[in-house]
Amino acid sequence: MNNKILDGKTLGMKIRESLKERVEQLKSKGVTPGLGVILVGENPASVIYVNSKEKACQKAGIFTITRRFPAEIDEKTIFQKIDEFNNDDRIHGILVQLPLPPHINEAKTLRKILPEKDVDGFHPMNLGKLMLGEETFVPCTPLGIVELMKYYGINPEGKNTVILGRSNIVGKPLANLLIQKREWSNATVTVCHTKTENITKHTKKADILIAAMGRAEIIKGDMVKRGVVVIDVGQNKVIDPEAKKGYRLVGDVEFSSVFPKAKAITPVPGGVGPMTIAMLLSNTVKSAESKIEKGG
Ligand code: NAP
Repeated sequence: MNNKILDGKTLGMKIRESLKERVEQLKSKGVTPGLGVILVGENPASVIYVNSKEKACQKAGIFTITRRFPAEIDEKTIFQKIDEFNNDDRIHGILVQLPLPPHINEAKTLRKILPEKDVDGFHPMNLGKLMLGEETFVPCTPLGIVELMKYYGINPEGKNTVILGRSNIVGKPLANLLIQKREWSNATVTVCHTKTENITKHTKKADILIAAMGRAEIIKGDMVKRGVVVIDVGQNKVIDPEAKKGYRLVGDVEFSSVFPKAKAITPVPGGVGPMTIAMLLSNTVKSAESKIEKGG
């Protein structure tokens, strides 16, 4: 593969292979790492994500229990299920697949997960620790991005790093990860969003540009400088009658015009997505290991 391509698919597979050994070690001590998943409704993207997470867990030797609920389910029942997972010794990580239907309070739901089982890293306690630079579960997509950059020797230290998007699951935690006073961090971070004036002014200054907006191919070649490193988090479906499924997946970055100017770039698919799954498995194994260390 072209060495300009930051290949998250291959690295994600490598990480998943290495996790198998850690799972075997845990099993030899009588512990099988377990992930409890809650899926509400039948949002097609969520169903696909949950299926692929389950499959990836099984391949790594991680045990999964998935509780599926109709979209009309009430909050109380979901909270009860989370509590069951909280109290289940076989479960080391709990994942509530987002988005939840509008009548269910997302923030309240995520707070119900025990922080030590919060392998998605969305609990306020874990996000607070992340901000303070303390050891914690880091949300999987930002963690996967940093691991990908490390693997390819892309050090953000001192670099103008522009993050497009300020969501709680990508932009905000990533910005916090990259401004820490430690190795593989120390970046100078700018976070842009829909109220940012003149986005191009910022994107053109970026040494590292991370796009997480969910807007198909809006970052074009003339918006970036030569030599930029581009991490494209976006996963957008665009209709394509010639594609087998009738659509294809594209990022927030127009690959054809940005690639020639970039020093390195993640493809979509095959960049950030596979790293996110690998980090979910990694956080689940880490949770099981730390439980053993604590003697539980
Ligand atoms: P989100 O919650 O919808 O947040 C999008 C962010 O982008 C918001 O902060 C929004 O600004 C900003 N934004 C939207 N349009 C913009 C524009 N034209 N100019 C500047 N900023 C703009 O999305 P998310 O959950 O973070 O996901 C973002 C994308 O990443 C989606 O395509 C999603 O599918 C993908 N994703 C991929 C992975 C993976 O593993 N590959 C994981 C998670 C998400 P405001 O705050 O002002 O509204």
